[in-house]
Amino acid sequence: MSNAMSALPFWEGFRVDSCVEREDSSLLISLTESDSAPICGACHQSCSLVHERRRRIVRDRDCFDRKVWLDVPIRRMDCHHCGARVAEHISWIDRHSRITRRLRNWIEVLVQILPVKHVAKLTELHWHTIKTIDYQRLERLHGEFSAQGVCRLVMDEFALHKGHRYATVIMDAETMRVLWVGEDKTRKAIRPFFELLGKEGCGQIEAVAMDMNTAFDLEVRKHCPHAEVVYDLFHVVARFGRDVVDRVRVDQANVLRTQPAERRVIKRARWLLLRNKDKLKAEQAVKLSELLEANAALATVYLLKTELKEIWFAPSVREGFRRWRQWYRLVMESQLKPAIQFARRLKKYLRGILASAIYRMNSSILEGVNNKIKVIKRMAYGFRDSAYFFLKIKHAFPGKPR
Ligand SMILES: [Zn+2]
Repeated sequence: MSNAMSALPFWEGFRVDSCVEREDSSLLISLTESDSAPICGACHQSCSLVHERRRRIVRDRDCFDRKVWLDVPIRRMDCHHCGARVAEHISWIDRHSRITRRLRNWIEVLVQILPVKHVAKLTELHWHTIKTIDYQRLERLHGEFSAQGVCRLVMDEFALHKGHRYATVIMDAETMRVLWVGEDKTRKAIRPFFELLGKEGCGQIEAVAMDMNTAFDLEVRKHCPHAEVVYDLFHVVARFGRDVVDRVRVDQANVLRTQPAERRVIKRARWLLLRNKDKLKAEQAVKLSELLEANAALATVYLLKTELKEIWFAPSVREGFRRWRQWYRLVMESQLKPAIQFARRLKKYLRGILASAIYRMNSSILEGVNNKIKVIKRMAYGFRDSAYFFLKIKHAFPGKPR
């Protein structure tokens, strides 16, 4: 091989010895050491005591349309500086790696735009290799816990893998950065977060938004002496939709057993009733108002849903309390059993509901987070690796600057 070719500048410390085309038309490039002394893999000092040589087959980036394999002689050192017996340090391969750093960098770009499965197909590397590269990339970016200056939190749970298990996500309420994600939703499960936050960090927490009916509030009170628990609108309204609006809709459909046409309209109205009014198209809005006009019970629960939201938009706790009392009275007058049950249960959470007048939370952000986690879950599904999934969530919510 000519000198110019053998000294290609891609593999520092090595020269090209030969290049052959293999049966599958990939290229196998054999390297040989250049004249410089090897560098100890442990102490990074140059050292000439070589104890043995082993050849390693390493994949590099493709060259034109060919896959490229390198046959690299790797020296094992008997270092006279640090006494270690380790493989030499090579600037373009990570320790024990079977791909070059150049290829790794390329894969790190690809995984940001394509699913792991596709990158594996494209590069003809095992998906596990690709996943590990992506995992390590994310770990480098988000592995370390930091919660500097955080004083308001949002806690939420979401289902893992077909809903059999749960996980908890904790965010900075102001920047919407994901601070922590952990498996399960028990008090014990979220305790590590407060331990990471530390006594000082916990002392700075002034408000924590969450859903009702969780174990979070007790744990928050235990660790954060100054924190006010706030129940957010998104969860309460979603619950009202499930427990009251939907219940009444089904009851009403059952009442109309002898009128199949009317019954069908109500049975199919689930989405229409649960959806935010401002998200409906013009013809859907017309359909909804026709439905509400025709059915008094549905009209009542729909009104109750709208009025319930207003409590969260009260400018003060005092006004919030006035709206709450008015809403509660409306519920009791409605004589709708699911609504009455709901209101009685909700009463226990009143303090945390009215606290939203002091600690404003943008509930639509929480709703967005919820939806985005579902999308990530679909994409990461199949790995069955929670740690990887959690890093993906952190990566999706880097937060806006303070
Ligand atoms: Zn050394």
